[in-house]
Parts: sequence; structure tokens; C-alpha cells
Amino acid sequence: MTAFIDRLPAVRGKLLANEQLAPFTWFRVGGMADALFLPKDEADLAEFLSKLDSLIPVTVLGAASNVIVRDGGIAGVVVRLGPAFGKVAADGMRVRAGAAALDGRVSVAAANAGIAGLEFFSGVPGTIGGALRMNAGCYDRETKDVLIEAVALDRHGKRVVLTPKDFGFSYRHTEAAEDLIFIEAVFEGTKDEPAAILERIEALKARREGTQPIREKTGGSTFANPDPPGTPNQRRAWKLVDEAGMRGARRGGAQVSEMHCNFLINTGDATAADIEGLGEDVRAAVKAKSGVQLRWEIKRIGRPPHDATVEGFLAKDA
Ligand SMILES: Cc1cc2nc3c(=O)[nH]c(=O)nc-3n(C[C@H](O)[C@H](O)[C@H](O)COP(=O)(O)OP(=O)(O)OC[C@H]3O[C@@H](n4cnc5c(N)ncnc54)[C@H](O)[C@@H]3O)c2cc1C
Repeated sequence: MTAFIDRLPAVRGKLLANEQLAPFTWFRVGGMADALFLPKDEADLAEFLSKLDSLIPVTVLGAASNVIVRDGGIAGVVVRLGPAFGKVAADGMRVRAGAAALDGRVSVAAANAGIAGLEFFSGVPGTIGGALRMNAGCYDRETKDVLIEAVALDRHGKRVVLTPKDFGFSYRHTEAAEDLIFIEAVFEGTKDEPAAILERIEALKARREGTQPIREKTGGSTFANPDPPGTPNQRRAWKLVDEAGMRGARRGGAQVSEMHCNFLINTGDATAADIEGLGEDVRAAVKAKSGVQLRWEIKRIGRPPHDATVEGFLAKDA
């Protein structure tokens, strides 16, 4: 029988069979990708997609700071964008950034060019691709507030340019077609002194150090706040979790962070099923206590292992 990898189009970048994904993820859990593709550049990615059998699933990962990759791994091809997609350049009050660029690098590049308004990116440990998909943000600023346009490749390798209205942005969510792989974005800010902007970035980083378990194996905010920012008496996911008595709760090697109870952490030997299962325990406890059905903000992707417990909680996924 032909190996899966041998059925894939030839590439100029790297194409690896049965590659472990856990080392790439913030949680450090998860199984293998059937194939991992690290494209050399945009043309390599476009050509691969145009020739790839349309029945083969394609999943893109950025810094994997917002995902639980399940223990059974990911079917088909996983794409990770490399240095060719990581360029950042300022022009006037605009910044053009590749989708693989880390958000923090984009905020500092903007600051050095005297462009204010992108400071919030320094609080998000993902890439620009992930920020576009998730409408990432913090402290009342979101990707949608600064985006001018984004460029993506569709499942057939065709280049697509999107404006903010094409995204259907909402809180930590976009309606952009699931098959799009973002490759770059243009953001706009306003003029300010670089030193003042850099000072705000430092203040923002210090604030996070004190309030979030950012040095743990984690995935960021687990559940979206039920109400968007600005809602009077906004209900906060962390508060609902706390009120349900789940701060510090455990399942296997997974734990609800004591520091910030909307964060799940891998204390060392957690499986993806431990982490996802604990998340479901939290959702059930919150529903029972306050009647609120929390929505997962973290994306859970891939195949569960053949384990009745995991399949049990997947069946009750909302
Ligand atoms: C300690 C910590 C703190 C965090 N704080 C915040 C915060 O304050 N605010 C916030 O919004 N988030 C926060 N997060 C979550 C996370 O950093 C963001 O959601 C981030 O935008 C995800 O980017 P990523 O590159 O890691 O995406 P990934 O986790 O790799 O992927 C997330 C989703 O984006 C998709 N994706 C990734 N790259 C692309 C691409 N090029 N094209 C199309 N789709 C793509 C993936 O398929 C997946 O669906 C935090 C995470 C951690 C670990």
C-alpha cells in the first residue's frame, strides 16, 4: 500500500510523515500529524494546495497557543508557516506583517516606527495568523480594531484579499471561511513617540505577569466571556468558574490554574484528554451552578484516542 506521504504533491519546503505535534504546542500535549508541511514560501504553499487531493483535510497551526491537539493526532496535512511568512515592515502609520510573525514582534516593530494602537498584541503569545482567526485581543482592544486587510490562500491555493467586513468579527471569533490560510495582514495605528509606546508595552507585559500563568504549559483563556466587552455588568468566564468552585480542580495531570481560573494547565504529564475532560468538568459545574453554558475559546482539534471516557464527553459537546 502507498504510504500517505507518497500520495502528497512534491514540495520545495519540508514534508514530514507522522510528526509529533506536542512539542510545538503551548500545552505540550497531542498526537502526531499524518503529515506536517513547512512550506518554503507562498508559491510552494499555493502549488501544494492546488495539487492536493481535495478530500485530504488541511489544518494550519500558528504558535499553537490556543489549541488542544487531541491525543489521536491530526488527520491529513498540518501546515506550519515558517520564516518566509514572518516578515514585518512599517510604512507610514501602517504595518504589514506575515502570518507567522509573533504578535509581540509586530507590536514592538510598530512602536519603533512610532505607530501606536498595536500595543495589545504584546499580550498575545500567538502569531498574526492565529490573531486573524481568533480576533485576538486584550485590555479592550482586538485585532478587528486595527486590521486594514488580510491576504489568504484558499483550499485550492488561490490568493484571496479580505477586508475587515469579510471576517464577520465578534468576540474571539471570526466567520472567515475555515479553509483559508492567512499569509499576511496590514494593520493601521496612530502617531505617537516610540518611547511612550514601548513604555505602555512594558506596563502591559508586567500586568500580565502578575495575573496570568504565562510561564505554564497552558492555552490561554479556556472559555470566552459570555458577554462581549463593554456589556453592562459583563459576566466573566473566570468568575463563573470560581463561583462554581472549580479553581484548582484536577483531572489526571491537568489542573484549573490557581492563579487565574479561566486557564487550564498541564502540570507535567497531562494528556490532551485530561485537559479537554477537565474543561468539560468545568463547563458542567458552571452550568449546574449558574445555568451558563460556557463556550470553548480554545480550539480542540484532531482525533481523540480510542477511549470511551473521551468519546463520552465529546458526545455532549455543545
Ligand atoms: C499564556 C497565554 C495568554 C494568552 N492571552 C491571550 C489574550 O490576552 N488574548 C487573546 O486573544 N488570546 C490569548 N491567548 C490565546 C492565543 O494566544 C491567541 O488566540 C492567539 O491569537 C492564537 O494564535 P496562534 O498563532 O497560537 O494560533 P494557534 O493556537 O496555532 O491556532 C488557533 C486557531 O487559529 C488558526 N490559525 C493559526 N494560524 C492560522 C493561519 N495562518 N491561517 C488561518 N488560520 C490560522 C488555527 O487553525 C486555529 O484554529 C493566550 C494564550 C496563552 C498561552
